[in-house]
Amino acid sequence: ALTLSKKAQAVKPSSTLAITAKAKELKEKGIDVVGFGAGEPDFNTPDNICEAAIKAIHSGFTKYTPADGTMELKKAVCDKFLNFNKIKYEPNQIVVSNGGKHSLTNIFQAICNPGDEVIIPAPFWLSYPEIVRLADGVPVIIRAEKEQNYKVTAAQIEAACTEKTKALILNSPNNPSGMIYTREELEAIAEVAVRKDFYVVSDEMYEHLIYDGAEVVSIASLNDEIYKRTITCSGVAKSYSMTGWRIGFTGSSKEIAKLMGSVQSHQTSNPNSIAQKAAYEALVGPQDSVRKMHAEFNKRRDYMYDRIANMKHISALKPQGAFYLFVDISKTLDMEYKGSKIGNVSELARILIEDYNVAVIPCADFGFDDHIRLSYAISLEQIKKGLDRIEEFVNVLA
Ligand code: PLP
Repeated sequence: ALTLSKKAQAVKPSSTLAITAKAKELKEKGIDVVGFGAGEPDFNTPDNICEAAIKAIHSGFTKYTPADGTMELKKAVCDKFLNFNKIKYEPNQIVVSNGGKHSLTNIFQAICNPGDEVIIPAPFWLSYPEIVRLADGVPVIIRAEKEQNYKVTAAQIEAACTEKTKALILNSPNNPSGMIYTREELEAIAEVAVRKDFYVVSDEMYEHLIYDGAEVVSIASLNDEIYKRTITCSGVAKSYSMTGWRIGFTGSSKEIAKLMGSVQSHQTSNPNSIAQKAAYEALVGPQDSVRKMHAEFNKRRDYMYDRIANMKHISALKPQGAFYLFVDISKTLDMEYKGSKIGNVSELARILIEDYNVAVIPCADFGFDDHIRLSYAISLEQIKKGLDRIEEFVNVLA
């Protein structure tokens, strides 16, 4: 019969994309929309990286590479893990993929059997539960409240463990909260992971975007026991403004790397050869453009945080990393706008885009239905204009 895959049909369409599409539609009508939805840096990919790609094309580096990445890039990834993250991996523990999202897909394909539970602390990046379900895993959501700085405790993780627990997803710096787990917090989490014997998938995609001198600690660097159980996942998208190039990578045990490589070899083959050359340059070349982008993000973060802190009814904690402000709008939900109660976060996002021409991300699909996410990967000028509009909106609420 012409029926469709139940698994594919169960995938939730991304709410992030819906808002972005609405913003685009309004822009096309000539309406001046401020988009706080961006999940990618607004800078061009640095020149030295683009040049490396152009050189790759002209020198004929345009053929298949080994399915799990070139030896050159895998070695550069090992150096990065050693120098930046203090984790020692050999090239046969590295898998280069088509982006961080693809790495996560590979990981759960490699470790999950039907019914295996994966603990996901909320707030979370909205793709995690879907990626886990597509691998026949079962997401188990635990909540990190604002009072705990949106970070889960080891005790909460332990309380969520069952015989079926296969893994925990850790994301630090976190999308959407911007929070970073401290060494002590990670040590406590690692202790539970080792004792209860499950994997930790550590998504460190935003590792270069950290502020106020925060220390980024990779959980795999803590000790041998947690190293064995951790799959560390990162990529070039956010740190080097290379979202379109699609290169991600993992460090894991050899066994897991082998399985991921083999899954990938049948599903996608090698990541784009040219993008691999570009990613190599990103990792080994000069890092000054990263520092420039970082300084700009930092300025915007300060400005945005101060503005929100001075607004009525809404509030945010100051993010320590990434490029998002996670804004608590819970108080507004019981308030009235144009004679009716706002009621829920998607209605709030609808009002903001339709009446104030500001696109924000409602975070229900990030596990928090009373928060929105504002990205500061847009210019300071746009940020200022957008915040003026949000302020106008909160001021009319009663
Ligand atoms: N992990 C997190 C937390 C993210 O926010 C993203 C992108 O938004 C990714 C992973 C995936 O990055 P990419 O697939 O673009 O490399």
